[in-house]
Amino acid sequence: MRSDLVHLVDELAERRALPVEGYQALVEGADSELRGLAARRAFEERRRVFGDAVYVRGLIEISSHCRNDCLYCGLRRSNASCQRYRLSTEKIMACVDEGYELGFRTFVLQGGEDLAFDDERLCDVVARIKRAHGDCAVTLSVGERPREVYQAFHDAGADRFLLRHETADPAHYARLHPAEMSHAHRLACLRDLREVGFVIGCGFMVGSPHQTARNIALDLKFIEGLRPEMCGIGPFVPHHATPFAHEPAGSADLTCFLLSLLRLQNPNVLLPATTALATVEGDGRERGMLAGANVVMPNLSPADAREKYLLYDGKASSGSEAAEGLADLRRRMAGIGLRVVVDRGDPPHATAAGTAI
Ligand code: SAH
Ligand code: SF4
Repeated sequence: MRSDLVHLVDELAERRALPVEGYQALVEGADSELRGLAARRAFEERRRVFGDAVYVRGLIEISSHCRNDCLYCGLRRSNASCQRYRLSTEKIMACVDEGYELGFRTFVLQGGEDLAFDDERLCDVVARIKRAHGDCAVTLSVGERPREVYQAFHDAGADRFLLRHETADPAHYARLHPAEMSHAHRLACLRDLREVGFVIGCGFMVGSPHQTARNIALDLKFIEGLRPEMCGIGPFVPHHATPFAHEPAGSADLTCFLLSLLRLQNPNVLLPATTALATVEGDGRERGMLAGANVVMPNLSPADAREKYLLYDGKASSGSEAAEGLADLRRRMAGIGLRVVVDRGDPPHATAAGTAI
């Protein structure tokens, strides 16, 4: 293990920050021993803040229609083979009610940028969830919208919003998206979301095509500056009907290492072990947790929707009932000494400086 890299991990844990060059050196130079060291320290941090709790979010995939054409994604509008669907309000409420019975207290409504799923309808769904289950949080992940629409979602009762920044480097962004999509606009949306009052989450794919170690270092620096309450990272996984069909998947080892660095950077951050991580590695959720993650987002979508909502190939989904899936997750988490809790799993209270009080 290189001692200069151990010092960088120490520095990150102490200062909660590193120069971009420091992040880059870690990404380029880490061996399995260093990754193990970072994971142990990150796990200690998550234990200090969250104890043995694992927060669960019930993921409901509300629409597979998308007006965008992100080059990496199976839902992109150019993919004629994607089976498109849109869940009715009643279907969504049925998923929520089932999830509530199972112990979920946060619901994530995720979908493509489906303009036919109009804003009023989504506001109505949010308001209905909050009326039916006042003790629950609602997270939205429905892409880029005008600020007034974000405001309307927030006014309707939505608490949190996930919008991955995808990459902090505009030149890299341009290689992952068609010309009509803009990196500046993505970042402007994140700013709007925060100003409107949302708890926000950004994030990126690990091993996305054309990504360099420098890009990842810039992502870590960007997240350090933004200080989002949530951060979603998972490996890129190719989808057969996209321009990146033949690109390799991202690495689980690197993803876990980055989870550790993010935990050391911000001990309070809500950090999921993503479905993509579980897709590239069967025990990805456990490995993610042991590397510092503290959130899992089991799928509550109806079985037929799950099969159609394919961002990438081989999406981990047992196809089993939500209840069975949760029982399996509880067992897996218990196996590594952690406990799935019935809780909204809000971000820990933070001072202006972003540290726990
Ligand atoms: N349409 C919304 C939400 C759905 S996509 C949005 O784009 O924000 C949610 C996330 O899935 C994206 O942010 C992207 O980072 C991830 N994703 C898309 N295609 C992927 C792939 N091939 N491999 C791994 N993650 C992918
Ligand atoms: Fe649409 Fe999101 Fe996929 Fe891009 S990543 S094509 S916005 S669903």
